[in-house]
Amino acid sequence: MMGPSHALSGAAVWLAGSWALDKFAGYEQSPLAIAVGTAVCAGGALFPDLDLSGKVTRNKGGATVARTFGVASLFVAEVIEKLSLGVYHATRLSNDPDRENGHRTLTHTLPFAALVGWGTTTLCTAFGKWAVIGILFLMIGLAVRGLFDEWAKRAGWVLVTAVSAGAAYYTYLELPGDRGYPMLGLAVGVGCVVHILGDLITSAGVPLLWPIPTGKRMWRMIGLPDALAVKVGGAVEVYVLRGAFTIISLLCAAGMLAPSVLRRFNIEV
Ligand SMILES: [Zn+2]
Repeated sequence: MMGPSHALSGAAVWLAGSWALDKFAGYEQSPLAIAVGTAVCAGGALFPDLDLSGKVTRNKGGATVARTFGVASLFVAEVIEKLSLGVYHATRLSNDPDRENGHRTLTHTLPFAALVGWGTTTLCTAFGKWAVIGILFLMIGLAVRGLFDEWAKRAGWVLVTAVSAGAAYYTYLELPGDRGYPMLGLAVGVGCVVHILGDLITSAGVPLLWPIPTGKRMWRMIGLPDALAVKVGGAVEVYVLRGAFTIISLLCAAGMLAPSVLRRFNIEV
């Protein structure tokens, strides 16, 4: 799937989960907490594609999250791609094919999603609000790049960076400082898993089983057969899936926020 679809699916899953927790478990979140979780999960849902470095995309074309923060993120993407390729070569078995780039390998595995979620929570616990503002900056930047793809391309990375810095700083000022932020780690981790599921329904697939070997292959790509697979950038992805993610997001956000808005105007429901 492409950037906007990944970001929208992350937002939809976080909003639907928050709505379900609110409705069925009585776990209510403030509007700011919902917004932060949604943005972080949308950003997290783009994070695995930071293994798509400049050279790779030049061959393939298409927008990429690697351009979110200009050359800085292009460089990071290059490093992540080479690191992933290194892990691929170090762990591949005799039936795994040779590869020249690391895209859709390490960062598209479930252990990676768990590690990123755990790492985020650990950073937040150790460094408190300072870690929170850094993670928000990174994730909001990715989310903006993904959700407003066309705008971000026109506006350029400087504006995208400024917008995410502003949003991160605002959130930092508004967040209560006397608590941990385990939800951030959960949102990033869930975002990564949602990304992996999104790539799973394409024909290229993802190494879903890694690191469990099957038939002398450690990196078996699991995806849908061509007849069923969602074509990347095709009509099903752009209209059906993005439409569904948008509707789910709006309904769940309205379901959670409407009661408090109505209450403010003294309207009983
Ligand atoms: Zn991907």
